[in-house]
Amino acid sequence: MKKIQVVTLFPEMFEGVLNSSMMWKAQKEGAVEFGLINLRGYGIGPRKQVDDTPYGGGDGMLLKPEPLFAAVEAAKANDPTAKVLLMTPRGQRWKQATAQSYADADHGYIFICGRYEGYDERIVSLVDEQVSVGDYVLTGGELPAMTIIDSIVRLIPGVLGGESSAEIESFSDGETLEFPQYTKPAEFRDMKVPDVLISGNHALIAKWRQDNSFKADL
Ligand code: SAM
Repeated sequence: MKKIQVVTLFPEMFEGVLNSSMMWKAQKEGAVEFGLINLRGYGIGPRKQVDDTPYGGGDGMLLKPEPLFAAVEAAKANDPTAKVLLMTPRGQRWKQATAQSYADADHGYIFICGRYEGYDERIVSLVDEQVSVGDYVLTGGELPAMTIIDSIVRLIPGVLGGESSAEIESFSDGETLEFPQYTKPAEFRDMKVPDVLISGNHALIAKWRQDNSFKADL
């Protein structure tokens, strides 16, 4: 079973996503176990302080190193071989091939979600990979962590089941986008399903699908 732990100031954001659909099924079937670690619990003093102003000046607050280190070390104690991932726009852009290799690996993951203007850079000393979900800035690392967790967990062998095959999905070869698909009815508001798809001719259908799979603009 893969253990996935998340260090976050907003554990409640994960409840709906991790307890629905495929993520819920993956837990129920014992493929994955999620652990949410509330950074606030490692805050300093009676106010459980987790942030402070940046040295050198500037707007906003940064996550302090002491609570971050304590939370990540607690997660490591739960799962000593887990790989630590820091969510950051400065990280490696997340790709389907990375999701596949993370799903195949036989260790767990600890996600660190930044907030405010970010985090004290010294946390990087505990991190194995810095990861970005794209060239834009989000309010916190929670949505990136959820996106990455979903992309990994659905690829853990046995999780997708017969409903879908990851082998013919978009990006499964690193660059090709899946062909368009249709379901019943064959005609809807004057829009018809391409004749070839209802022809029953499997060779022609395969060719149509190949012709209509595009290379992603990467
Ligand atoms: N000041 C930072 C900068 O300019 O790069 C942005 C901080 S952002 C408001 C707060 C946190 O959200 C980041 O520390 C990171 O954890 C997360 N985050 C925002 N955008 C992200 C992205 N594209 N990929 C991964 N994490 C992201």
